[in-house]
Order: sequence, then C-alpha cells, then structure tokens
Amino acid sequence: MSFPAPFQSPLEPTAAATREAELTALVAQLVATDHQVQRGAVSTTLSAEEIRARIAALDLERGAELGSVLPELLALLAAGQVHTPHPRNFGLFIPTPTFAGQAADLITAMMNPQLAIWSLSPAPIELEQRALRFVGECIGGGADWQGQFTSGGAEANATGLLLALTRKFPDYGNRGTRALTGDPVFYTSAECHLAWLKIAHLTGIGRAALRLVPVDESLRMDVAALRAMIADDKRTGCRPFLIAATAGTTAAGAIDPLEELAAVAREENLHLHVDAAWAGALVLSRAHRAWLRGLELADSITIDAHKWLSLPMGAGMVFARDRAAVEEAFRVSTSYMPTTLDGTVNPYVLSMQWSRRFIGLKLLLTLANVGRVGYERQFAHDIALGTFLRARLRADGWEILNDTPLPVVCFAATERADEFAFHQCIADAIVGSGVAWISTVKLRGQIPGLRACITSYRCQAGDVEALIAALAAARAIAVRN
Ligand SMILES: *Cc1c(COP(=O)(O)O)cnc(C)c1O
Repeated sequence: MSFPAPFQSPLEPTAAATREAELTALVAQLVATDHQVQRGAVSTTLSAEEIRARIAALDLERGAELGSVLPELLALLAAGQVHTPHPRNFGLFIPTPTFAGQAADLITAMMNPQLAIWSLSPAPIELEQRALRFVGECIGGGADWQGQFTSGGAEANATGLLLALTRKFPDYGNRGTRALTGDPVFYTSAECHLAWLKIAHLTGIGRAALRLVPVDESLRMDVAALRAMIADDKRTGCRPFLIAATAGTTAAGAIDPLEELAAVAREENLHLHVDAAWAGALVLSRAHRAWLRGLELADSITIDAHKWLSLPMGAGMVFARDRAAVEEAFRVSTSYMPTTLDGTVNPYVLSMQWSRRFIGLKLLLTLANVGRVGYERQFAHDIALGTFLRARLRADGWEILNDTPLPVVCFAATERADEFAFHQCIADAIVGSGVAWISTVKLRGQIPGLRACITSYRCQAGDVEALIAALAAARAIAVRN
C-alpha cells in the first residue's frame, strides 16, 4: 500500500495571507461596483449575444487565477442585470439588501454550518431560533409559533399547504391523495400569487384543486363568494381543506379580510394559511401592525425575509401554530443522522429541506444591528414615499387603480385605459431608458396598468420625482405613436 504524498489542493490554491488579500480586493471591487450601479442604469444594457460571448471567454477546462477572472465578471454583472440594490428599482418586491444581511451571507458562505440538526450546529440553530421567536412574538395571537426558515415564499406556502393536508386528512401522510374520498380543494383570491398552482401540482392534489375566489372592489377576497363556493364544492362531493388568504397581494397590495376568513375557516373546519410574503414584515411595526389584523388567527403564515425585510435572497419564513402537524408532516429517521437531543430543534425533521444553509443569520444580524426600531423607521419612510408617489401620479393625471395603504401603486393613463399595449410601451420606455424599473400589471386578470412599488431603502423623494418625469415623457411619446 502506498502512502499518498502531501497534496496541495487545487481547491485551496493560495496561502491564508493571499486569500485575505484577494478577499479584501474583492470587497473593495464590490463596494466600488455598488457605487457605480447606484449611479448608473437600473436595468441591463447588454443583449443575450453579448452576454453569452463574454461568458464563453471563461476557460472552464483549465481555470485561471481568481484575481484575473473577477474584474471582468463583476463588470459583466454590473451591466447584465436589473439592479435590485438601485434606489429607483420600483419593481417586484426584491429590495436592496441590508448591509448586515450581506455580511451575514459572507459569513455563512465561509463558515458553512450544516443546520439540518442541532448537534451539528448548536450556535447557528439557536441564533435562528432567536430570530424566529422574535418574529413569532410580533405575530402574537397567544400561539407558540413554530417557525422555520425556507428558501423563499414559495417553499413557505408549499409548507402551509402540506400542513393543511396533513391536519385535515390524517391518512394523507401514508397514502397521499388515494386516502381521500372526493377531490381536495382549496381557496385563494383571484389576485393570489400563482406559485399556488405549482404547489398544487407538486403535492399531487393537482392544479384543478385551486379555487380562485372573486375579489371585491378593493381586490380583497370576497367572503360571500367564498362561502358560496365552499357550499357548492361540498354539495358536489369535493373536500375543502384550506383557505389560503393573502395579506398584501403581489400585484396590488390588497389585504384579504383576515378576521372574516378566520371565522369561515373555524365554521367550516378548514386550515387557514396567510400568505403575507411581503407585507408580513409589518408585524414588526407597532405603528402598522393593525393593518394585518387577523393574521394572528391563522394556522400557518408565510413571511418572506427577502422581501420587505430587505435581506439577500433566498430567505423565507413559515410559521405554524400546530407543532404536532409539523412533526407529522416532516417526520423521518435514519441510521446516519445523529440522534435528537431533548429540548433542541432539528430543522431537517421540521421542514422540507435536509442539508440546510444558515439562512437565518441575515435576519438575526440585521435585527442585532438596526433593531426592530430601525425596521419601524424604514417601513414608515417607505409608506410615506408610497403615499407621495400616489399623490404625484394623481397630480400628473394618472388614474390610481388599487386601494391599499402599502407602498405599491397600480396606475393607468385615462386616455388609453383599456389598452395593455399602450402601458407596455410606457413600461418598456422607462426600463429601456435605465432611469427606473417598473412593470405592467393586469388587475382582475384584465384591467391594464403600470405598477411601481417602493422597494429600496435607498429611495428618496427625488427618485420618485425622476420616475414621475420619466413617465410623463414616455406617455407623451406613446400617445403620439
Ligand atoms: C413573492 C411572493 C411569493 C413567492 O415568494 P418567493 O420568495 O418568490 O418564493 C408568494 N406570495 C406572495 C404574496 C409574494 O409576494
């Protein structure tokens, strides 16, 4: 038997001092890139061909010194994406990540703890638990919320649906949908996040299990319509099991009537999940918590940490009231995982993921840095800017289409109110100019408009004014064409 010679691993090609120098240089380049990005265009200026040509130049066969690869890579990224850290990213809710959150992800990448099981990562898991308990106490409602970090809102919602199936159909865990007599059905508003369709697909209940309940004039789930649909479904032998309310719809910020929905869920013995992916951050805000009244009555809740809590992706959270259901849904035992210690939390048997990244550090570190009070001040500022944006749009002759106190505004040009292409043309002009990033929207599945959302903590009144000016210019051109 030959003894393998000492080996200089190619995976760790440099000495510690050199690594420190490279990391320091990288941080300097990142900070410079961030400054440049904030002053430049919000969105990409490169074509697919240009991007692919620059990527093709990388030598994946033999590799190269990191120091020679990184500058070009950062330049490509600076030119080849919509910049979520830009103050004029009025986009889908991916905010500028907090500085503490960025630091946390760097720590996580370098220390790489395995959070599947407590005995492997006692300190990381206790840090996550502290953050989850903190948010759970803000949710309130007298529950001992069982929280877990997820990859994002979609996984958190999928967890909610799985808990609902597990609670309402005791044999579901073993026999799946074969255990059911009658088709399982669940209810969301027609304005819900359509990840529910994918979730229904993957759990095996099928996309047809999703019932889209009509909305009222404020785009909130119509409770009378919901009651009628449940009654109809029961009459035809279906098996309602879940109401999935939304607190802050993605498109328009509508908050379903949570207290009334909780009453329906209680009467009909249905699981109530509340998808509060982005607006759920307001549980931390004493001034705005009342906007989410009834959230605390839910059986399970989604709050995305990478939405309004402004953490780097991916970071979601799911909270469940019924710990036994969580344990039932994710139970498993193996010969090779260390045994469970009493009084400790083992995320691999309490959530979907197995090997688990240290997702929660970015929330804990941001809270430990800016505190709940820092978040409260930020939310108040964002909401004030949203109100300012709404007022400025109205003053500039736009019609406001949505009714929400949240900082998301859907609006339309009255002269061409029913033309989606007209609004698309304006959005394309804004995005193409690089001045700001906004999107189009279709409310009630048909009413066309534009959508602007305050997402960056860097956004100031001047950025809103820049958007207003760009909109007026794009509208004037679109009218002439
Ligand atoms: C963003 C969003 C989701 C999906 O969350 P991801 O983090 O993108 O997986 C679900 N529901 C609502 C209301 C959202 O805004």
